[in-house]
Amino acid sequence: MTPPVRGARRSDHRQAIATDEPFDLLVIGGGASGAGTALDAVSRGLRVALVERDDLSAGTSSRSTKLIHGGVRYLEKAVKQLDRSQFALVRDALHERALLIRNAPHLCHALPLVTPLYDWVQVPYVMTGLKLYDVLAGRSNLHSSRFVNAREAKRRFPQLKAQGLRGGVLYYDGQFDDARMNVAIALSAAERGAVVLTHAEVTGLHHEGGRLAGATVRDRLSGERLEVRARALVNAAGPYADAIRRFDDPAAEPMLTASSGVHVVLDERFAPPDTGLLIPKTEDGRVLFLLPWLGSTLVGTTDQPAPVVDDPQATEGEIEYILRHLERYFDVPVVRADVKAAWSGLRPLVSDPKASDTARLSRDHVVHVSETGLVTIAGGKWTTYRRMAADTVEAAVKAGRLDDVRPSATVDLKLVGAEHFDADGAAGLAARGYDADVAQYLHHAYGDRAAAVAELAEAGLAARLAPGYPFLEAEVVYAQRFELAVTAQDVLHRRTRLAFLDAAAAAAATPRVEALLAEAAPSAA
Ligand SMILES: Cc1cc2nc3c(=O)[nH]c(=O)nc-3n(C[C@H](O)[C@H](O)[C@H](O)COP(=O)(O)OP(=O)(O)OC[C@H]3O[C@@H](n4cnc5c(N)ncnc54)[C@H](O)[C@@H]3O)c2cc1C
Repeated sequence: MTPPVRGARRSDHRQAIATDEPFDLLVIGGGASGAGTALDAVSRGLRVALVERDDLSAGTSSRSTKLIHGGVRYLEKAVKQLDRSQFALVRDALHERALLIRNAPHLCHALPLVTPLYDWVQVPYVMTGLKLYDVLAGRSNLHSSRFVNAREAKRRFPQLKAQGLRGGVLYYDGQFDDARMNVAIALSAAERGAVVLTHAEVTGLHHEGGRLAGATVRDRLSGERLEVRARALVNAAGPYADAIRRFDDPAAEPMLTASSGVHVVLDERFAPPDTGLLIPKTEDGRVLFLLPWLGSTLVGTTDQPAPVVDDPQATEGEIEYILRHLERYFDVPVVRADVKAAWSGLRPLVSDPKASDTARLSRDHVVHVSETGLVTIAGGKWTTYRRMAADTVEAAVKAGRLDDVRPSATVDLKLVGAEHFDADGAAGLAARGYDADVAQYLHHAYGDRAAAVAELAEAGLAARLAPGYPFLEAEVVYAQRFELAVTAQDVLHRRTRLAFLDAAAAAAATPRVEALLAEAAPSAA
């Protein structure tokens, strides 16, 4: 059995951050960008601390569509505007897609998606576009896309409206569990020596001789104030990046606007277990995905201008919008009561304050360095987190004048759970007596660490947290001991994904999760 991460309780990291010696790099924010940056930096031999105000992945990074993709939408834009930089963006993301699947095979897999076509005129357009997607992927391509006739489209995705269906294009992208990937990245950084402190908020920055020198951090569990010194600082606070920039310079021009993206979750009747659906154009020109995910059906997303708030919620209007479109494309009736969970994520749209056209909003990432040396990473997408992190650390090395720094080593770095991952490992768990759904789930969520969770389960924690879902009581204890979880929300939202799948089931499980957390580790905070 591969040993679980040592020293992965929050209390270990709380102790380690209280040092007078400056870190090489302090990262603010524990989403994909911040965790990725911490991992990249430790892979170069830097001394790194990361502080996250809430939990790992508590912001946008747990609320994505869970696709590892080059962006079919961006490709369309590239073709329409004949924009080489957009083509490069798609190509690079497709390359990263392959790396993610290789470096975290337990959490990522290829997913076939059908694009249904109800008008013959659309066929050559969509077909050419998706063939171009294959070409841009080059050697990183997952499988070739192809036209499927109406019968095959319906066979692949039986819920699809049959009337008027001409056929579809079948293409492939990657799918993953975003929050668990985020945790795996942060734990991989912690295993290599990074201090990763959650529930710790940056409330101010300090400067020495006109240069950034550290941050004031409030431990949100104890209320204590800490001064953390560092030679370079990275601002990876997602939608809150402008607030951090104002700690550095109260007159800083905003870089971000936000739009909200809502997903709803339905049960497994609404999608086949192994194929997704891409609705290429809704009534107002948006893209809608319908995806099988952890035994349920994920549908989204909307795109509406939105204010930056903690824990954004899906509005009834946004939920209605999604259901209305499902009715249009579905032969299976869907009603409001079918919605088991709905969540909203904030997409930060970035304009580089240094760019000549500051009004231009881009989905690409921007690395911005302030006069005092604050490195802000904003925008981009989950799929390209590794590349974004490498760019960010390079900027931080320059801004902090750090010497003797090795090149990034993340291209081949297997994330926690991946190193000894055996693709057939679920069979071993099933042989130990686990139900098939639990065996599959543990195998994919924990990779080569699944046996450690199983050992806890076999020590009296094998009960499910909620009927019909594969999450076990053992995971609560494991999350607290080895995955930096502290609160019931950390466990229910981002170590297991119960709260994202079924809000009522998560609410019902909360007292038991709280009791297990209290019993298992009184010193975890
Ligand atoms: C609806 C939606 C769907 C998406 N779908 C996809 C997809 O399918 N595929 C894909 O590749 N990309 C997708 N994306 C994009 C992707 O989710 C984001 O690019 C990515 O998650 C951004 O990560 P981040 O770390 O920059 O931000 P966040 O995840 O928001 O992380 C920022 C963190 O900073 C913390 N923080 C804020 N202030 C402070 C402070 N003062 N002190 C300490 N910490 C602080 C926050 O708590 C938060 O955890 C989607 C985005 C949205 C909105």
